[in-house]
Amino acid sequence: MNYKLIAVIMVTLTFFFQTFIKWLEMKSAAGKIPENVADVYDGPSYQKWLRYYKETTRLAFVRHLLSYLAVYLILGPDVYAWIVYWLSPANEYLTALTVIGANMIVGLLLSVPCDYVGTMVVEQKYGFNKTTKKTFILDQIKSTLITLVMMGGLCCLFIWLHKMLGNWLIPVFTGIVFLMMLLLLILYPVLSRAFNKFEPLPEGELRERLCRLLNENNCTVGEIKVMDGSRRSTRANAYFSGFGRTKTIVLYDTLLEQMSSDEIVAVFAHEMGHNKHKDNLKVQGLSLINLLVMVLLAWALVSVPEIYSCFGFDRINYGFALYLLQTVCLSFLTPFLGLPVAALSRHFEYRADHFAKEQGLGGAMVSALKAVARNSFMCLSPHPLVVKLTYGHPTVSQRIAALEADEEPKGFGRK
Ligand SMILES: [Zn+2]
Repeated sequence: MNYKLIAVIMVTLTFFFQTFIKWLEMKSAAGKIPENVADVYDGPSYQKWLRYYKETTRLAFVRHLLSYLAVYLILGPDVYAWIVYWLSPANEYLTALTVIGANMIVGLLLSVPCDYVGTMVVEQKYGFNKTTKKTFILDQIKSTLITLVMMGGLCCLFIWLHKMLGNWLIPVFTGIVFLMMLLLLILYPVLSRAFNKFEPLPEGELRERLCRLLNENNCTVGEIKVMDGSRRSTRANAYFSGFGRTKTIVLYDTLLEQMSSDEIVAVFAHEMGHNKHKDNLKVQGLSLINLLVMVLLAWALVSVPEIYSCFGFDRINYGFALYLLQTVCLSFLTPFLGLPVAALSRHFEYRADHFAKEQGLGGAMVSALKAVARNSFMCLSPHPLVVKLTYGHPTVSQRIAALEADEEPKGFGRK
């Protein structure tokens, strides 16, 4: 079978689909703003948003075109097989790592200039960026090293298990990776210190109100912390991290600066809503299914040696299998696999908003949502199909409509 042709067809279909989504996103700039969010931007800030939105979607489009050009240029002339042939690494592990390393270099060549323009030029121009060149470079180095170690390590583990266990690799590898993901979640509060600084929320009225809300709902957390999000960006956020006694609620310092205390309490209550319904754990459960699909695909890819001869290799290359998995298979499947996850995630958002409303913070939540939208230059009129396919959060207008409606959120499919 001509596996190269199959791969190119899959990549091309994905390319057209993603181009269509990007085109819809660019078109959203001209969309009519729903009435319940009409007061988010005033005249001049709307014009500024429009310019920002056009620039960012255009940049995303350029990035999209470049990344597909790279895929065609790599798959077409068998570039990675040439590199392996040229370097002729000593064993299977090094052969796989050679492809992973080469692909990371390609990824960096593409992403660093785009990230640089996105962060240091566009975000800077509109006043969102707080990242210095030094932090930007350090972040790039740190995340590259982390990815290289993780990808390389996982690939070597996969090769070793495949050789030792054959098809038993599927449950064993899935189990090990899932445990590692849980460990990462548990360690997240510690790991995130490599990127940011965390301080306890100072004593005062705000802290008292938040603690009272926690007590009223029998919610125990280890600590409420403030993170120096302002070190990188003016965007505001809050999240729960860790488990049990190490559970921490993290508030961005930007949230504290930009919002009134009512709004901060509402955002906090929203996060408590997620925590109460164990939304994070449910998302983890779903990610186990996704992981299993990925491992099955990886196993299928390394079970057909002819695939590799179609791409110029003389034997199975596990690093190239990883490349095919990411660039061809998963990109192709993402719209299908991502759809139920995005729908579930939007449902969780409605429910967490409703929890804030039950605490008597419905009005404050509405104004917090508007403040977040205004401060982060959100698109208020995204195309409904883009929302369905890619949005993990409902639109601000949908969330406000749900908060202002009387009924409770019920399952999926609500507008
Ligand atoms: Zn949420």
